[in-house]
Amino acid sequence: MEEPDWAAPLGQAYDSALAYLTGLPARPVGSSASRPALRAALGGPLPEAPEDPRKTIAALAEAAEPGLVATPSGRFFGFVIGGATPAALAADWLTAAWDQNAGLHVLGPAAAVVEEVAGGWLAELLGLPAGASVGFVTGVQMAHFTALAAARHELLRRAGWNVEADGLAGAPRVRVLAGQQRHDTVDRALRFLGFGTSAVTAVGVDDQGRMRPAALRAALGAGSGPTIVCAQAGNVNTGAVDPLGETCDLAHQAGAWVHVDGAFGMWAAASPTLRHLVAGVERADSWATDAHKWLNVPYDSGLVFCAHPDAHRAAMGVRASYLIHGGEGERDELDHNPEFSRRARGFAVYAAIRAQGRAGIAGQVDRCCALARRFAERLAAHDGVEVLNDVVLNQVLVRFQAADGDHDAHTRGVVGRVQQDGTCWMSGTTWHGQAAMRISVTNWSTDEADVDRSVAAILRCARPAAGHEPTRRAPNRGPGRTRRR
Ligand SMILES: *Cc1c(COP(=O)(O)O)cnc(C)c1O
Repeated sequence: MEEPDWAAPLGQAYDSALAYLTGLPARPVGSSASRPALRAALGGPLPEAPEDPRKTIAALAEAAEPGLVATPSGRFFGFVIGGATPAALAADWLTAAWDQNAGLHVLGPAAAVVEEVAGGWLAELLGLPAGASVGFVTGVQMAHFTALAAARHELLRRAGWNVEADGLAGAPRVRVLAGQQRHDTVDRALRFLGFGTSAVTAVGVDDQGRMRPAALRAALGAGSGPTIVCAQAGNVNTGAVDPLGETCDLAHQAGAWVHVDGAFGMWAAASPTLRHLVAGVERADSWATDAHKWLNVPYDSGLVFCAHPDAHRAAMGVRASYLIHGGEGERDELDHNPEFSRRARGFAVYAAIRAQGRAGIAGQVDRCCALARRFAERLAAHDGVEVLNDVVLNQVLVRFQAADGDHDAHTRGVVGRVQQDGTCWMSGTTWHGQAAMRISVTNWSTDEADVDRSVAAILRCARPAAGHEPTRRAPNRGPGRTRRR
């Protein structure tokens, strides 16, 4: 066989990636391709004959690019996404080249050790107990699944039930108390684990979406038996954090397990100025967070931590006669994740932390929050623009008032026009029954100029209110773009 040619396809991928990344500031943030155009560019019959791999990569990049959403852009503010830092991205490339099956220590000792090392660094950054076990999963969805499986094991073990062996049929019922504003992934994990969503009692929240301690106390007192309390650090709309210390105290007095959904909000712990928001987080029993959000690691990368390593391993661990399990002190990843074969996710996380350092990560979290406040201040300074939430973290909710009184329709219209405009990209939401634009600042590369350009674009898109002529022409708006539909 001929020497394989790695250089040509990898070189093409490098060139295409670099063109994409360096082109981010100039391209529209949203996708500009229609579905039929993408079908035409990417579709066709099943290829019969082989093709030069370099050509395949070049054609793929060219066909896909118009249909990409520029989520790594410093002006992407939709959902809570974040980009990828150069070191994390480069380490992710290496991860693909190394192609380790990071399920067992024996199949990639470096992958196993890097998870141990990065796991320890992360616990320190996030203010979690040093002895907590860690799993590198695909995202918070699977972090919830893993943590709640550990909770299920431990609470039922205490009740004299072996759920791993005997399942849930006939087991004591486990109740789950979670804030009304919990993320849907909590319910989804409960579905996967056989608890069912009807196991959840919704606990009342305040105007920012934080669980109210008095409501939690009442809910805990209204029942008994094995109980899980799901708290939240970072409401997806407002960024608000549940009172974690009080939540842990109340729940533990009742013998409950506390799980924290800290997908992005737990990163407040990495900042000395914001750490107070998550005070008490270390007293929970399990935690879910993402590396692919605020740590800016490429997708997919989530993290689960558990203060009860034995319960974690009992829920996830596996033994098979043909496997070679790690010896003394050797950590097999598959004892901590729901996956069996899996990507060596630790390398990119390791590189992200090492390249930024503790100070860099703290600075990045602080900067995003300062930029969120800048968004809020600049937008709220305009008539007819209202910020709906207390901007405590990186999330801003904005509502646009229409002269005709239909603020919901106008706000949704502004969100749609901003997405079309391409300067920046925000999603919409409904908050307290009102339509709102939702801004999330989560990208390492976003700077003040990005925010100012985005504010100008938002105001431009807010101007042609239903039935109203724009009051002033924006300086850089071309003719024919005055009235967008
Ligand atoms: C993003 C998010 C999730 C889901 O995380 P994935 O990584 O997409 O699975 C859950 N909870 C909160 C609060 C989030 O922001």
